[in-house]
Amino acid sequence: MLALITGITGQDGSLLTELLLEKGYEVHGIVRRSSTLERSRLSQFYGDASTHEKRLFLHYADLSDTTTIRRIISKVQPAEFYHLAGQSHVGLSFEIPESTCDLTAMGSLRIMEILRDLPHPPRFLHASSREIFGTPTFSPQDESTPVNPNSPYGCAKAFATQMTRIYREAHGLFFCNAICYNHESPRRGENFVTRKVTLAAARIKMGLQKSVSLGDLDSARDWGYAKDYVQAMWLMLQQESPDDYVIATGESRTIRDLLETAFRHVGLNWQDHVKIDNRFKRPADAHELLGNPEKAVKQLGWKPSITFEQLIHLMVDEDLKAVKSRT
Ligand code: NAP
Repeated sequence: MLALITGITGQDGSLLTELLLEKGYEVHGIVRRSSTLERSRLSQFYGDASTHEKRLFLHYADLSDTTTIRRIISKVQPAEFYHLAGQSHVGLSFEIPESTCDLTAMGSLRIMEILRDLPHPPRFLHASSREIFGTPTFSPQDESTPVNPNSPYGCAKAFATQMTRIYREAHGLFFCNAICYNHESPRRGENFVTRKVTLAAARIKMGLQKSVSLGDLDSARDWGYAKDYVQAMWLMLQQESPDDYVIATGESRTIRDLLETAFRHVGLNWQDHVKIDNRFKRPADAHELLGNPEKAVKQLGWKPSITFEQLIHLMVDEDLKAVKSRT
């Protein structure tokens, strides 16, 4: 089986690569050019002679570069296409709304148009987000919750999500949306709140940092383990028919819970180390976001493999290991 992944260097892309290689796939990934060759989340494959350029291939393109993406797709002819690339930071999307929308909304549409023209279009997975629901009036949210985004990121994802549905229904394509709630791992970017907290707990424990600045501690999120979420994405493309699924844990925790869990794990009291900084409060932030994964559980046989506490402990342990190895 042959798969093509956009966003292969990201948290989810690298975890999906591992999953697909384990399953015997040949994996192709689209990477954009940067000034350094460092692709830390894929580094384990570079030294592996049995994988690199044998079962794992990287191709240069930017999401804005339609001609090159078309060429890569024609050359690779994937059976499965996982579209994970995009500007993935909600807060940052208020700073750079134009490029967020160009890449996440129009970039996705450009890919769908290329796939539609192929004689044998691959199965297509769009990594959608619970941000398409904005500030929902009821909880938990599921696949029937009205789309009503409240950030440029959510708006761009809503466009790509609806286009994925439209292409499925209008053109009969095997196109699916994984409507993902927050998912984390030791590979999460350091400017996302979970990783910011687990890294701070590790660094403060090691005496390298004194405090961490955060916004609204009462914000609640439905946080799952990214490895489970890429498993759900794969399962979605193995079904008899295409559909959209909410992928979530069904449990919501506050930033306060996150702090308590991370700092207690290293024997610290978070109240001694947290500063509130209004700059980290988001315009129009939804207070509580909670997903209902019942459809994925029933139809895909999917379920989260670890608890919130286990996830945060895993992240703190990995951060501690990395911090210690650098000191
Ligand atoms: P991530 O770690 O930020 O990875 C994003 C990926 O997109 C990176 O590989 C990045 O490449 C690539 N990318 C960004 N702009 C690009 C461009 N112009 N051209 C080509 N590639 C580009 O995100 P993630 O956490 O793995 O999330 C994967 C997808 O799921 C994203 O679309 C995200 O919005 C969505 N999602 C994530 C969550 C979550 O909680 N993690 C929840 C809902 C939805 P570089 O390495 O070069 O930057």
